[in-house]
Amino acid sequence: MGLSIGIDLGTTFSAAACIDKSGRPVVIKNSEGNPITPSVIYFPPKGEPIVGDEAKEMQALGEADIASFFKRSIGSDSFLLKFNGRDYTPTDLSAIVLRKLKTDAEVEMGQTVTHAVITVPAYFNNFQREATIKAGEMAGLEVLRIINEPTAAALAYGLDRAAGAQTMLVYDLGGGTFDVSLVQIKRSVIQVIATDGDHELGGKDWDDRIATYLGQCFSRDHDVDPLENAESFQDILTRTENAKKQLSVRDQVKVSIVHGGEKESYQLTRSQFEEMTQDLMERTQSLTGQVLSDSRLKWKDIDGVLLVGGSTRMPMVRRYVERMSCKKPLPGVNVDEAAALGAAIQAHVDSAESGDTPKMFTLKSKREIRDVMSHSLGMAAENEDRTRYINSIIIAKNTPAPCSETRPYSIMTAGNHDNKVEVYMLQGESETPLQNNILGKYVFPGIEHTSSRQAVLDIQYRYDRNGVVSVTAKQRETGKNLPLTIEPVPQDMSWLSRPPEEEQVVTVHPSILIAVDLSGSMAGNPLTKACKAAGKFVKEIDLSHASLGLIAFADKVKVTQDICQNVKKLHKGIAKWHDLMETGDVGWGNEAEPFSKALKILKNTEDPRFIILLTDGMWNDQEDAIRQAKRCHKEGIEIIAIGFGGADREFLKAAATCDENALFTDMNSLVGSFSKIARVLTESGGKLPDAGAGKSANRKKGFLGFFDRD
Ligand code: AMP
Repeated sequence: MGLSIGIDLGTTFSAAACIDKSGRPVVIKNSEGNPITPSVIYFPPKGEPIVGDEAKEMQALGEADIASFFKRSIGSDSFLLKFNGRDYTPTDLSAIVLRKLKTDAEVEMGQTVTHAVITVPAYFNNFQREATIKAGEMAGLEVLRIINEPTAAALAYGLDRAAGAQTMLVYDLGGGTFDVSLVQIKRSVIQVIATDGDHELGGKDWDDRIATYLGQCFSRDHDVDPLENAESFQDILTRTENAKKQLSVRDQVKVSIVHGGEKESYQLTRSQFEEMTQDLMERTQSLTGQVLSDSRLKWKDIDGVLLVGGSTRMPMVRRYVERMSCKKPLPGVNVDEAAALGAAIQAHVDSAESGDTPKMFTLKSKREIRDVMSHSLGMAAENEDRTRYINSIIIAKNTPAPCSETRPYSIMTAGNHDNKVEVYMLQGESETPLQNNILGKYVFPGIEHTSSRQAVLDIQYRYDRNGVVSVTAKQRETGKNLPLTIEPVPQDMSWLSRPPEEEQVVTVHPSILIAVDLSGSMAGNPLTKACKAAGKFVKEIDLSHASLGLIAFADKVKVTQDICQNVKKLHKGIAKWHDLMETGDVGWGNEAEPFSKALKILKNTEDPRFIILLTDGMWNDQEDAIRQAKRCHKEGIEIIAIGFGGADREFLKAAATCDENALFTDMNSLVGSFSKIARVLTESGGKLPDAGAGKSANRKKGFLGFFDRD
């Protein structure tokens, strides 16, 4: 194993770093003697591409065969640049920059560089992360891991600060991306609490505003738009970036524009510049606010703000951050180098841990990184009444990585047929599938036919420590792992915005409500167990083919989650039960019954429909409650009544659709009971072979009976 280095592969600049003999991270100078290398490539007509300062100068001179800002498009198949007759993807171009950093580091350090930790914006999605790893490999590097830029910066910042825990906000505004993360630095851990960002917001947008303004001024004076000419456009962009940098230290600048034989100079003041870019600052403000609210923290909980990325040199950023946080930004970090230095620390730790290399230098302090995922992972599914497709979220944003979630997926199988499941995996927060990134069509063929009921796949969805997605599936009935093929996303995905088409085999979609008793006797352990049981139910129910809602009742009734197919919302809805118990918002008595509310909610949904009642005591008006339960039976809604503690067995029987749907159990068996119900619902699709779900109030065979026969 040769040397392991850290690399910040930036939109505008890149940098490499390693740990020196004294155990400190240091930036490795490139062959031009500079600590940072412009991420710009010039393709001469013959010979190897030229990366860095020379390429940037050629770009300023208007040379056409230049690639820059390609990091913004990494992971996108459609972005191709042609040089000397060859197509280059952003991954190919990134690999060229990485190779230059590797080669220069080898010359500077006098050793072969074999391994690297590469930083990426925290907001990068799966495609962008996979493409970055691939670019590293193409450059001849073994990528130890990729880490998020703000986390790397926090790692570098925390190196000398081994004292007490600190919570800080990392505000990272680079050339092409903006990331904002909340990070806790503890003695042995760097823990990211929440992250957000925009990979299409960076210094380049500030440049573009000046360019547009100057273009307009010139058009007004000369009746011709210089931005429409490629050469003048490049020239103006170079001048505007310089002007922007000057405005970081001066109140005004003069910018000259030369186009079509005309030359004109325009004065630009800092306040004009700040005014024309105010909305960009506000965009960073709203993302920062989002991160704080996601983590339920206030500015008073934050010890300081760490500024990272070249664009944080703009005085407006500093001023805005100070105003927002009421604190001066944390000192002592080089905004251009922090990410590379942090990556070097991690590269050193990872290579030392792999044991392949003798541990030559010891770091001052060593911290483990615990990062979170910046995007939710979900799949396209039909909603409860099959009127539209939705994004059913499986792993919520800001879940610590690595993480995995196993969820059931039920499918009707047929004999003599290649039964397969096709899942479109999505990354993003929107409920509308097309507003998310579609990661691919994941196809699991070879599912064995099960004659009596639906086949169930236990599908495991995983984010590894690099934030890269993987999916595996096992058929429950056979215990066999299924093969997986990931097909590219078809060009036309517009069908996801239309109502699902009628299928030949109509899959049923149960709508389920869990109604939990929150009267005073549930406080403490019973409620904790009830929450666990409901959580288990969420885990075991196939939410791509079923919808679930949550109701709490005591003296009043409250819906803590509307019927949905979103794991994240459901867990939040369950957590609200504790809040209600504390605030007393539904009272602590036994005045209310949940059935009339449940009937209202389920009225417009299709069969099969279920209410799962959980109670631990007697209600004030049990007669009325039974009357309301009977109205539900009449509507065809199946009621499963689960009681424990002081619950009344006769009441449970009367409220349930039939005797077998009444279950008296003990607190410690609640999780098991809810798990069983979810499994039966998933395996049967809510369609009970004996009776059809819940149609008859006098039915003998109940839902739980069906389970017991197994
Ligand atoms: P990074 O991606 O972190 O290397 O940041 C590069 C971005 O920082 C580019 O958009 C630069 O124009 C910008 N930048 C660098 N220095 C300054 C400065 N002094 N004032 C304003 N922007 C700057």
